[in-house]
Amino acid sequence: MSDKINLNSLSQIIKDEIDKFDHKIDTASVGQVVSIGDNIATIYGLDEAMYGELIEFPNNTFGIVMNIEEDSLGVAIFEGDAEIKEGDICHRTNRVVSVPVGDALLGRVVNALGQPIDGKGKIDCREERAVELVAPQIMDRQSINAPLETGIKAIDSMIPIGKGQRELIIGDRQTGKTALAIDTIINQKGKNVICVYCSIGQKNSSLAHIVDRLKRTDSLNYTTIVSSGASEACSMQYIAPYAAISMAEHWMYQGKDVLIVFDDLSKHAVAYRTLLLLLRRSPGREAYPGDIFYLHSRLLERSCRLSDDLGGGSITALPIVETLAGDISAYIPTNIISITDGQLFLNTDMFNEGQRPAIDSNLSVSRVGSAAQTKVMKKVSKNLRMALANYREMLDFSRFGSDLDKSTRKVLAHGAVLLETLKQKQYKPYPTSREAVEIFVSQSGILDDVKIENVYPIFKLLYNTIQAQDPSIYETIDKSDTFDQEAQNKVLEFVKSIKVNFQTTERE
Ligand code: ATP
Ligand code: MG
Repeated sequence: MSDKINLNSLSQIIKDEIDKFDHKIDTASVGQVVSIGDNIATIYGLDEAMYGELIEFPNNTFGIVMNIEEDSLGVAIFEGDAEIKEGDICHRTNRVVSVPVGDALLGRVVNALGQPIDGKGKIDCREERAVELVAPQIMDRQSINAPLETGIKAIDSMIPIGKGQRELIIGDRQTGKTALAIDTIINQKGKNVICVYCSIGQKNSSLAHIVDRLKRTDSLNYTTIVSSGASEACSMQYIAPYAAISMAEHWMYQGKDVLIVFDDLSKHAVAYRTLLLLLRRSPGREAYPGDIFYLHSRLLERSCRLSDDLGGGSITALPIVETLAGDISAYIPTNIISITDGQLFLNTDMFNEGQRPAIDSNLSVSRVGSAAQTKVMKKVSKNLRMALANYREMLDFSRFGSDLDKSTRKVLAHGAVLLETLKQKQYKPYPTSREAVEIFVSQSGILDDVKIENVYPIFKLLYNTIQAQDPSIYETIDKSDTFDQEAQNKVLEFVKSIKVNFQTTERE
């Protein structure tokens, strides 16, 4: 009997003890790692964590909340997931991922979190900006009315880009996509445009080459490079373009003009797909997650031209997309084509034939930029696309037989000169005046009887002659946007006198 009393009291004691036990662990802001692998941690706890919040792990490792489920969280770790073990405790930070912003970033190479990776020491930025922010509203924007000069003849004449525009550069691998973007950055020297180059999933050696080029052309001092290499975690590659555009936005809201390049968004889409498949989200078309369109639209919508009330700053975006065998109707290319204001299509065949930059004028468009084209450029390049289209049509036709009538031969000769004029060396952007003069000369037909290989030397001589004898022709075009009849006649006279030293052909 006494045994029973003892047992009863014992169980009572245990019950009392259990009741008194304060079992409340703070699961609101503390969590525990349940599993870890492939840079993805599954966390128990952290009940109040927000989507996109930064989570702190031991050893100064951080991650971002990507999945919120009923009783667990999926966190993508940025770097150093090898340090994290199952059972580790992690904490909320109560802030979303943000990057340092400001002028101290100019001339620097940083990773997706804004940390320097160029070995030049600490970056002294006073402000930070969240990487994910809502794009400016419609009323905060104004239409595009100023040109962004790329210095590339084929673009400025036929597919002009305006400040605040989003123009896609699309083409197969090794067709000069990066080259176009880098030349555009080089051309912004002295034009008060800040540049941000965001490299996603590229080899470190390619990036080193780009940094070196920018340095040698004195373009690095107004450029920030945000890089997340192919060897970095998918989460870093995923966040890199958002980090880059946040840095750009800071300048835009100060009323400055910014040019941003995303090189490239195909690799970004692949990194995002990898990340979400590891987080066990269901795959959709081509195994991309369902929100892949939103991934890029919310990024590209952040570039715009702000209204004058907000300072009139702008972000011009040049996203790059790689195609396979010229297929622009694949999933990611069509998505991004529909988000942007036009595309520069680079044609592999043209590139291999030596027509570089290989801009295909048939498939390239700029839906808003022509409103911002300079008067002179608009005038001299008016018939250019049409003449090229005619040329291409005749060329296909002429392959059937050798007897061509005079008018066909004329179109072919003229088109060949136009195409030759649009060729341009890499890293050699031209001022608008030089572009306009060359396009005017080739459009005038005066070079149609010149051997094709002589077109470039004639233009080179013409440039030197004008510089030496009448530089005001260039100055008036650049400064007051006029190229009057008198100046045009002078240019044609120069060409005539240069031409006599070059052999002409029977092409006409
Ligand atoms: P990837 O798909 O590998 O990123 P890409 O499309 O970015 O390639 P680039 O790296 O820019 O292509 O250029 C490919 C090659 O073509 C480079 O060797 C580059 O020097 C050369 N190239 C690009 N543009 C020109 C040009 N206008 N004139 C001569 N060579 C050029
Ligand atoms: Mg490239």
